[in-house]
Amino acid sequence: MGFLKESYEALKENIDLHSVTLVAVSKTKPVEDILLAYESGLRDFGENYVQELCEKHTSLPKDIRWHFIGHLQTNKVKYIAPFVYLIHGVDSEKVLLEINKQGKKLNKTINCLLQIHIAKEETKFGLNETELEIIIEKYFSQHSSHQLEYVKVCGFMGMASLSKDTEQIKNEFQWLRSLFNKYQQLQTSNFKPAHLSMGMSGDYLLALKMGSNMIRIGSLLFGERKNL
Ligand SMILES: *Cc1c(COP(=O)(O)O)cnc(C)c1O
Repeated sequence: MGFLKESYEALKENIDLHSVTLVAVSKTKPVEDILLAYESGLRDFGENYVQELCEKHTSLPKDIRWHFIGHLQTNKVKYIAPFVYLIHGVDSEKVLLEINKQGKKLNKTINCLLQIHIAKEETKFGLNETELEIIIEKYFSQHSSHQLEYVKVCGFMGMASLSKDTEQIKNEFQWLRSLFNKYQQLQTSNFKPAHLSMGMSGDYLLALKMGSNMIRIGSLLFGERKNL
């Protein structure tokens, strides 16, 4: 399938890449496709399987910024911690603590986004509002007693419902945007929300309208994926 250069050019026309980060989601795609995208200027790539990410990281240029966008299991954090640029899917206290632990071992601060559950589907991952409040209160508020010195929360990530109902999707993005705005007031040494990662091939225009500044685009850039 390769890399759809015309789609990329069209996308560049549509979005302001000075204010929006485009993460090219290369999951399931071969390194040859990623290299074509790289040669066109893309540097941010997203993967959702740890092993696949590690293999691609080994064989591709070292200035690629690798985004982990999948559901991260605690026991796999150690494999990506040394090189990952941003972990989008932090959805539990447990995984947050493990990221901090691995960061400490490497003496490196690891950038994270907290994943918020905004969709109707229960199968999707993410924190609900209460879980988010508890984590922020415990680890990231001015008076929190626990210090996570090797984690930096750089923002939030969410996935909208897979639906044709654009009002529904808009509301989901809007809600995440309002959470983001609310917590932007809170700036501590390890909590500095700057990225709002929402929007994929099918809904990125809506997401941008609702204030996203980081979109994760797969099929629009690389073609449809085979169902695994
Ligand atoms: C696969 C995936 C994407 C990209 O999906 P497309 O519809 O192909 O653009 C974005 N975000 C996450 C979390 C994904 O798993």
